[in-house]
Amino acid sequence: MKVIDGKLDAAHWLPSPNFGPRPDNADVSLLVIHNISLPPGQFGGGHVQAFFSNQLDPSLHPYFEEIHQLQVSAHLLIERDGSITQFVDLRDRAWHAGVSCYEGRDNCNDYSIGIEMEGDDHTPFTDAQYTALAQASCAITQAFPAIGRRITGHEHIAPGRKTDPGPCFDWDRYHRQLDSASVQEVC
Ligand SMILES: [Zn+2]
Repeated sequence: MKVIDGKLDAAHWLPSPNFGPRPDNADVSLLVIHNISLPPGQFGGGHVQAFFSNQLDPSLHPYFEEIHQLQVSAHLLIERDGSITQFVDLRDRAWHAGVSCYEGRDNCNDYSIGIEMEGDDHTPFTDAQYTALAQASCAITQAFPAIGRRITGHEHIAPGRKTDPGPCFDWDRYHRQLDSASVQEVC
């Protein structure tokens, strides 16, 4: 995979209206991993894509009634089969982190890229997701070298408020696969 003009070449492009400019567009220096599923705990169905496009139908599920007016996004979503959708140009500011702080610096959306893994806090992620995430992360860190190994979870930058990607996300495995992809240059 490669990042070309802010887009991951392997991703399906589904632009979200929920983004803006970064205060300093030269400063993309953090990668944030999340999980999401809609309704929570159910996979597939395309509701996350609809949510990030402000198209979620509130009549489909009681939970959708609560959230359908929120305006949020992430740069990338990795579904259970490893397929990747991109909603926001990586050079732009997506709305994924909310109130957050990494190493003493607030407002992580300003300087981070957000990747959603389709999943929840109770279900292991799939092999295809780890492979896609490692390759996407490899391509992203090549395109934005200031990220380096500044990679964190939403739960770590918004503790007490957020729990994702959660205890089922295997950080050791992810780092091993990312190191291996980076060394072999098989992003
Ligand atoms: Zn999150």
